[in-house]
Amino acid sequence: MREEIKEILLSEEQIKSRVKELGEEISRDFPEGDVLFIGVLKGSVMFISDLMRSMKVDVNMDFMAVSSYGLSSETSGVVRILKDLDFDIEYRDVIIVEDIIDTGTTLRYLYDYLKARNPRNLKICCLLDKPERRKVNINIDYKGFEIPDYFVVGYGLDYAEKFRYLPYIGILKEDVYKKDKSN
Ligand code: 5GP
Ligand code: MG
Ligand code: MG
Repeated sequence: MREEIKEILLSEEQIKSRVKELGEEISRDFPEGDVLFIGVLKGSVMFISDLMRSMKVDVNMDFMAVSSYGLSSETSGVVRILKDLDFDIEYRDVIIVEDIIDTGTTLRYLYDYLKARNPRNLKICCLLDKPERRKVNINIDYKGFEIPDYFVVGYGLDYAEKFRYLPYIGILKEDVYKKDKSN
């Protein structure tokens, strides 16, 4: 384990078995297949690729990149689209695949933005949910794990672009970001 990690919250094995269950659940809900996963870059990359491989029906993927405007580390609710979809989603079964839902502002914006393009179904799948931090109401259709209010990294999630490669989800030591703030 890296020295910046305080504790492993979710092991590689725990993630693997939960992602497999999620893939099976989604497959049961869409037996006809032709599902489109929309990954939100970059945090969801590991999750979407494992989730796709646990699907029992055919599925495609597309990606969006967004950035949240805000004065502090809190998202303001204004989201800028940096990369839009390559595919038309009208009348399609679409599932947004996200790494983590915190205040919910990013996903709320994205959901409304995509809903306006008339997909047949628009669902939300997220690996991690921090319900304590929620500011806007959001219905999560497929959820990996609920976690307490810790800043976590690994399995795609970063701190300043670091730690994405870790195969587990770990709690970052507080002195890692305190040290950065004092620089
Ligand atoms: P929201 O708009 O729900 O407040 O923010 C969601 C985004 O904030 C996530 O997609 C992620 O990029 C970032 N985020 C929120 N909590 C964490 C966390 O614990 N760890 C990491 N690495 N990113 C987080
Ligand atoms: Mg994200
Ligand atoms: Mg990030």
